[in-house]
Amino acid sequence: MKEVACVILAAGEGKRIGFRKQFMEICGKPLYMYSLEKALKLFEEVILVLPKDVLERVPVPEGVKKVPGGKERQDSVLQGILETEAEVVVIHDSARPLATEEMFRQVSLLGEFDGKVVAVPSRDTLKEVSGETVLRTVDRSQVWISQTPQGFKRKVLLECHFRARNEGFYGTDDASLLERYGYKVGVVLGSYWNVKVTYREDIQFLERLLCKEFHVP
Ligand code: C5P
Repeated sequence: MKEVACVILAAGEGKRIGFRKQFMEICGKPLYMYSLEKALKLFEEVILVLPKDVLERVPVPEGVKKVPGGKERQDSVLQGILETEAEVVVIHDSARPLATEEMFRQVSLLGEFDGKVVAVPSRDTLKEVSGETVLRTVDRSQVWISQTPQGFKRKVLLECHFRARNEGFYGTDDASLLERYGYKVGVVLGSYWNVKVTYREDIQFLERLLCKEFHVP
C-alpha cells in the first residue's frame, strides 16, 4: 500500500471565468501541469481528476492516473479518493499553480491531526454584510483564509465525504467536512502568493509570476 497519494483536481467547468481554465497555457504549459509536476516529485501515487469528455485526450506524464470528475468539486474529490488505498491523501486545486513543494510536504505530515490545511491569516478587516448593509466587523484575529493543498487520513476523509453526500451537504473545501463531523484539523502557514485562478484578472497576475520562474517566498 502506498503511503501518500495526491489528488489534483482539474475537472471544473470554470463557470465564473467562462472556460476550463485548467487547460489554459501559461508560458507554454497548461495550468494543471504546474501542480502535477510538483506532486510527481514528492508522492508515490498521483491522481488527476478531469472532465469525463476529455479524459482520454489530456496528456499526462507517465505514472499519473486519470479519473473522471463529478458535477461539483466535492464530487470530483470523492472520485479521486476512491481510486487509492494510500494511508494519507493530499487534495489540491490545479487552479493554484503557485503552491510550493514545501506546502505539499507539510500537509502530508499529519502528526496528531486527522487533516491539515494550508492557510494564511486574514490581512483585511472583515465585514459581515446583508444586501448593501454592513452588519458588523468580524474579529479577524482568529480568522485564516483557507487554501489548498490539504492533507487527510484517507479513511477519515472518505467517511466524511460519504456522510456529507448522504446529508446533501456541500462544503467549500474538504477540511470543512472534517470540522462538521468533529475531526481534528491542523493548519500550516501558506502564502499570500498561493492564489487561485477564479476570474480573468487573475490570469495576468499569474502570467507575470509563472513566466519569470518566480519562487513563492
Ligand atoms: O471552480 P473553482 O475554482 O472553485 O474550482 C476549484 C478546483 O476544483 C479547480 O481546480 C477545478 O478544476 C476543480 N473542480 C473539479 N470538479 C468540479 C469543480 C471544480 O475538479 N466539478
